[in-house]
Parts: sequence; C-alpha cells; structure tokens
Amino acid sequence: MDSQKDLPHVDPEVAAIIEREHQRQEEHLELIASENFTSPAVIQAVGSVLTNKYAEGYPQKRYYGGCEFVDQVESLAIERAKQLFHCEHVNVQPHSGTQANVAVYLSCLSPGDPILTMSLEDGGHLTHGYCKNISGMLYRTTHYGVHRETEFIDYDALEELAKTVRPKLVTIGASAYARTIDFERVADIAHHYGALLMADIAHIAGLVATGLHPSPVPFADFVTTTTHKTLRGPRGGMIMCKEAFAKCIDSALFPGTQGGPLMHVIAGKAVCFKEALSPEFRTYQEQILRNTKALCTEIQQRGYRIVSGGTDNHLFLVDLRATLPDVSGKDAQMALEKANITLNKNTVPGETRSPFQASGLRIGSPAVTTRGMKEPEMLQIAEFIDTVLRNLNNDTIIATVRERVIALTKQFPLPY
Ligand SMILES: *Cc1c(COP(=O)(O)O)cnc(C)c1O
Repeated sequence: MDSQKDLPHVDPEVAAIIEREHQRQEEHLELIASENFTSPAVIQAVGSVLTNKYAEGYPQKRYYGGCEFVDQVESLAIERAKQLFHCEHVNVQPHSGTQANVAVYLSCLSPGDPILTMSLEDGGHLTHGYCKNISGMLYRTTHYGVHRETEFIDYDALEELAKTVRPKLVTIGASAYARTIDFERVADIAHHYGALLMADIAHIAGLVATGLHPSPVPFADFVTTTTHKTLRGPRGGMIMCKEAFAKCIDSALFPGTQGGPLMHVIAGKAVCFKEALSPEFRTYQEQILRNTKALCTEIQQRGYRIVSGGTDNHLFLVDLRATLPDVSGKDAQMALEKANITLNKNTVPGETRSPFQASGLRIGSPAVTTRGMKEPEMLQIAEFIDTVLRNLNNDTIIATVRERVIALTKQFPLPY
C-alpha cells in the first residue's frame, strides 16, 4: 500500500489508539474466559477487501451481482463448519452470538410463547430470556439454574419446570459454568414435553469441535455459537441445525434479523475452521483443559472456594466470600487490573451482592494458553492473583506484581 494512504498517515489518532491497545494486549495477562487471540491469518482475512462487498442472500442466491468470489468463501466456510461439527445445516452469517440466538427465536417462537432457560445469576447468558434483553421482553421466560448445594445444573428441577411450564423452546448453554453439560439429557426432557431445544455452545465451541466436551449436535434442534471464544476465530456467530429447520433458520437470519453479511468476517471464519480442523488445535484445547485445572487447583490450595468445587472446561468461578468476605468481585477486578491481570467479576450461585459488585471472579485460560503458557506459568499466575487479593490496598505490592506480570508476558509474545 502507498505509505501516504497508511492508517498512521491518514488517521494518526486512531492508529495510536490501536497501537496502545496492541501494547495492552502484549503486557496484560488475559484471563477473561470469553476472550482469545486469533491468528494473524484470521486477522488478515478480516482486514481484507472482502469488507467492500454487499452479498445479501446466500451462495448462488444473492440479491447483488459480483458475488462469485464471496460465494466461494462462504461455501468454503459452510463446508468446513459441517466437517468440524458434523452438523446437517449451518448458517455462518450471524454477526455475533446474540444475532444467532435471536434468529433461532424468530424462527420457532411467537411473541408471548413460553421458554425455559438458565438464569443469568447461575451462569446463563443475557440472550437466554434476561428481562432487559429482547429475548426476555418478547417471550414468557422461566429460569432453571444450578443446585444450591452441588452447584451443578439441576436437571431434576429443569424437568419439573418443563412439566409445569410446557415451554415451546428450552435453551441450554452458559457463559459462566465450569462443568460438563449433559446435552442429551436436556434434549430428552425438552422433547418429552414437546419443546424444541437450542444448545448455545458460545463458550465451549473449541472443546466441542475437538471432542473434549460432548457435542449437542446429535441431540439439539438448533446449536448456536460464537466463533471468537475458545474457537479462536474472528468475532462472530453461527447457527447449526437439523436439515428440517434449514429454510426457517436461513430466512430468520436474512431477511429476518440481518441485512448484508460481513464477508470479510466470514472469510475469517473459514480460516478459523481450517485451523480448528488441524491436529495442533486439538493439542491446544487439551492444554486449555490442563491449564485451567492447574490454575484452579492452585487457587483452591491457596484457600479460596471454587464454585462447584472445580472445573471440567476452560474456566472456573472463585467465590470470594468464604476467604475475603469484605472484598467484592468489583474491588478484586479493579485491583488485579492495576497489576495487569485482566478478568471479570461474576455473580456466584446464591449471590448476596448486586450484579455490579458481585462476590465472585470468573477466570479462564484460553487466551494465555494461546500465548504458549503451560502449567508452570499457571502456578505463577495463581500466586500473582493471591498476592493482589490479599494486599488489595497496598499499591507497592501490587506494583511489584505488575512488574512480574510484564516480565512473564515478555516471554510469551503475541504473534502480531
Ligand atoms: C458470549 C455468549 C453469547 C453472545 O455472543 P456475542 O457475540 O457477545 O453476542 C451468547 N451466548 C453465550 C452462552 C455466550 O457466552
């Protein structure tokens, strides 16, 4: 490109902000369970000329001319997604996980219909019927959650609710749940009481794709996901479904809830699926599981209560109340941020604080695992977190941890 037309030349302000964000990503330990670092190849695809193209419709059925190449890239993304998840039909156009879920609802529900979903406080997602989300505004929502003692999903209670509520749709899938989900059991319950099932694997898609978490694809009528969490692709969404629902899903997405697809992002998805089909990707997902266990066990041994007592996947939840009753999730998040450790506060089952304060932390390893960190680094990270949490008001100690965090990140540079 002509250097006169480079971003730093054209818009030095934006270029400088991007550079500072790049630096932040380099020098922070990213423990937000929903984040990851996508490959340079995916970023190239997303930063390509495909952003210039309008392609309303689907391959071979577009409303615009000039679609021969974007047709090829979307078809490639579709074929690879089918190979990766063994699904009958897939729509790769959703701009996000939220768009994917909304399209499923539009395809099979009418306003006022009853739905049965996991509550936000127990680990569910906003788009699963939260009162201030369109899903909670349009549909009559009943929530199930986790068992108060075991903190595992209470499948018996879910079944009781399905019996009394007679939902039209059951949703299963979470943003803050550390245990293996029994999709087959929930499908049996939903179908027994005449409901359809949507499984939302936004968080665990990478584990599902590599067979490290049971797949809902054989059991659920609809499976939605994001492509940017454990799957490590570009920011976006995707819907898989049985062939019988293919037409209604496609038309609920376009023209139902979206216009032109983001072809550059769809190209990024195609690259992500190719990467996810490789043996290295399975090794990566296995390392995520080992890292999460190592980090979780070390935090536990340092005296913290882990929600449900442990983890089966890429994340876990710390309940601060037992060890540090005066420290809210918000306080903890802010102090850790000062030490260049990025994670988020989270409500815990039986939460006693407001969601803005919260009593827990959600910790995930997908992003640090992408950088190449392994179990020894997880033990160091646990020590960093523990030191900050026990010295919340000691800026000198927090500054020392920050220096150590930066030193650690320098040993594991980002590939950009
Ligand atoms: C992240 C997430 C979504 C939404 O994804 P966005 O791309 O942020 O819209 C949906 N469902 C679950 C379970 C999620 O964790």
